[in-house]
Amino acid sequence: MSKFRLRQEKLDKYKAKTWDVVIIGGGAAGIAAAIYSARYMLDTIIVTETEGGTLLEAAEIENYPGFPSIMGPKLATRFYEHLRKYNVSVIRARVTDVSKTNNGLFIVKGTRGLELKTKTVIVAVGTVRRKLGVPGEEELHGRGVSYCTVCDAPIFKGKIVAVVGGGDSALQGALLASKYAVKVYLIHRRSTFRAQPIYVKQVKENPKIELVLNETVVEIGGKDKVEWIKLKSGKILRVDGIFIEIGEEPPKEFLKRIGLELDEKGFIKVREDMSTNIPGIFAAGDVTNIPLKQVVTAVYTGARAATSAYEYISKAKYSGWGA
Ligand code: NAP
Repeated sequence: MSKFRLRQEKLDKYKAKTWDVVIIGGGAAGIAAAIYSARYMLDTIIVTETEGGTLLEAAEIENYPGFPSIMGPKLATRFYEHLRKYNVSVIRARVTDVSKTNNGLFIVKGTRGLELKTKTVIVAVGTVRRKLGVPGEEELHGRGVSYCTVCDAPIFKGKIVAVVGGGDSALQGALLASKYAVKVYLIHRRSTFRAQPIYVKQVKENPKIELVLNETVVEIGGKDKVEWIKLKSGKILRVDGIFIEIGEEPPKEFLKRIGLELDEKGFIKVREDMSTNIPGIFAAGDVTNIPLKQVVTAVYTGARAATSAYEYISKAKYSGWGA
């Protein structure tokens, strides 16, 4: 039997049943939601593009209780090891649409022919990387332009790199890059950082890191790979690579298509119980308008969303499904 047929049979099986909870996103929030959901004995499936979400791009995590220091990808592995104790299905696909049927169930559609019927949905899709939007950025992406210091810093051993941004990702990124590169320019558009003070202190004390403040990158250049970057002041810096670590934004178009109510920045507006404007759809993690974007928050909101999904399903049972 071919691999494709096996996959098709699995998809058909998944399509035929009515799930209690479809969790979109397999990062910290999605995994926590799945563990709680499984413990409520709900029929649960995670649809995700990656096993770990932004954890896979996170550097050293030092503020998640029980783990004094752990790399993001390692923590993701630990989360999945824990998840495997439960009867939760995980399918690798990208969800493209969620719609509500007349009887109150949701249809979740995605790539690879995915179609699922479910009583509730938990949206835990996280965020996508923000771009600078300057000439050369797109053309040289993967040829010296990177959005993930954790993934690509080792490539620049013995080289000169720039890191752009003033938040935790940029400062942690600069610190990590300095372990490989001979020199790191940390370019930030203001003179003060929004990163945690502990990272600011470490960056300032690091002899390999040069702060370039009140500056922005206006162009990235090079023949086949990054060779230089141009700053707003007109100054040219010779670099072999540039890490753009200027934050994340929610996948607004996808969220709007579902009909979710968003705040002015495009994050899903959630109530205290993680419910959204659409009854039966809950949200968790970085994609919500909860300000503290941390693993600990993702885990809490995931657990809360699963609890709310359980309560929603329990109430619906008394009134008859979809009544
Ligand atoms: P962030 O906190 O949103 O910071 C983005 C940085 O990029 C800001 O300094 C911002 O400048 C700058 N920026 C934004 N757009 C820019 C542009 N177009 N050009 C130049 N600079 C631009 O993003 P983040 O650092 O990725 O962190 C995201 C969230 O994850 C935060 O809540 C953070 O605390 C969390 N996080 C935590 C850890 C940790 O705890 N170890 C690690 C990584 C991330 P301004 O400051 O001027 O706005």
